[in-house]
Amino acid sequence: MNTTDFPIENLPFGVFDADGEPHVCTAIEDNILDLHGWLPEPALNAFMASGDVVETKQRIRKLLDTNAELIPMRDATMLMPVRIGDYTDFYASIHHATRVGAKFRPDNPLLPNYKWIPIGYHGRASSIVVSGTPVKRPNGQTRDDANAPPTFGPSKRLDYELELGAFIGRGNALGTPIAANEALDHVFGFCLVNDWSARDIQAWEYQPLGPFLAKNFATSISPWIVTLDALEPYRVQSQREDPVLPHLADDVAFDITVEVWLRSAKMNEPVRLSRGNFRDMYWTVAQLVAHHTSNGCNLQPGDLLASGTISGPAKESAGCLLELSPIELPNGETRNFLEDGDEVILRAYCERDGLPRIGFGECRGVITPAL
Ligand code: MN
Repeated sequence: MNTTDFPIENLPFGVFDADGEPHVCTAIEDNILDLHGWLPEPALNAFMASGDVVETKQRIRKLLDTNAELIPMRDATMLMPVRIGDYTDFYASIHHATRVGAKFRPDNPLLPNYKWIPIGYHGRASSIVVSGTPVKRPNGQTRDDANAPPTFGPSKRLDYELELGAFIGRGNALGTPIAANEALDHVFGFCLVNDWSARDIQAWEYQPLGPFLAKNFATSISPWIVTLDALEPYRVQSQREDPVLPHLADDVAFDITVEVWLRSAKMNEPVRLSRGNFRDMYWTVAQLVAHHTSNGCNLQPGDLLASGTISGPAKESAGCLLELSPIELPNGETRNFLEDGDEVILRAYCERDGLPRIGFGECRGVITPAL
């Protein structure tokens, strides 16, 4: 079995810094192939809307058969691959929703709407950053003592959330919903998403309108978009058995292993904190798209729909510290939440005997001190 994330069967799309100019590119093993002149630039949006991914990949494979000039990936600086117009974050793992809900509402963890509508909120597109961008600890208002006024200062409960994001390819006109059984035709591909979350700010601000400043200070994404044709062999049937309204009927899940790694400032090598699988999500990607557009809301090429924290039934598969902590690191350090200097690394890949491994690369971010 291959060990690279980027065999010739994958060919994800990204954008790198070519001497100050954004160039569209693809990844092949440890290298990148400059696609400047092939596809519209400076971002992937126009290509994502056009839908000719399979034909483009055939042309790339032909070129790779000859004497294509490759650039070592370690020498390249990756840029934001897409101009993201709108960003929505969902809450599609019932395991995450139940465990987190129990922390905020011990007697009533799962709200009655959860099994009927995919819960989500509109996030902030302009603070989405590409992997490698440092993340400054946010200041915010928190209330630790219910009998005292709130205070303002650096978050003390900074967390990561392991998610996958679906990039919209072809959009829909305002007023024209996307049917669940056609929804994946509107998805260009997936990336890794770290929805950094300040839990203390979130706990004080979230009612009644949901997350706001606890989330919108930064969201990190991986630089590579893995397209749906590459994930085709890893489509599986969703395990969900509960009833669903007809306009949300869909059972297409994806068998994608997802991992969180952490490297503190005192550690040389990162350590794995958790491993889960995207197939354990309660809501499928097609259901998220169908629900989002069911009222006529329009999605546009380059919009990002993130899944919500990917947590499985086992605690070792929990995709955030709120569910995992307290944890002990191999060097004796302990963590309830992230400390300054901690680097969080998200990884995802599909692997099965007889099939090529298809990986997503990494989504990294280091926490820097609050101002
Ligand atoms: Mn989230």
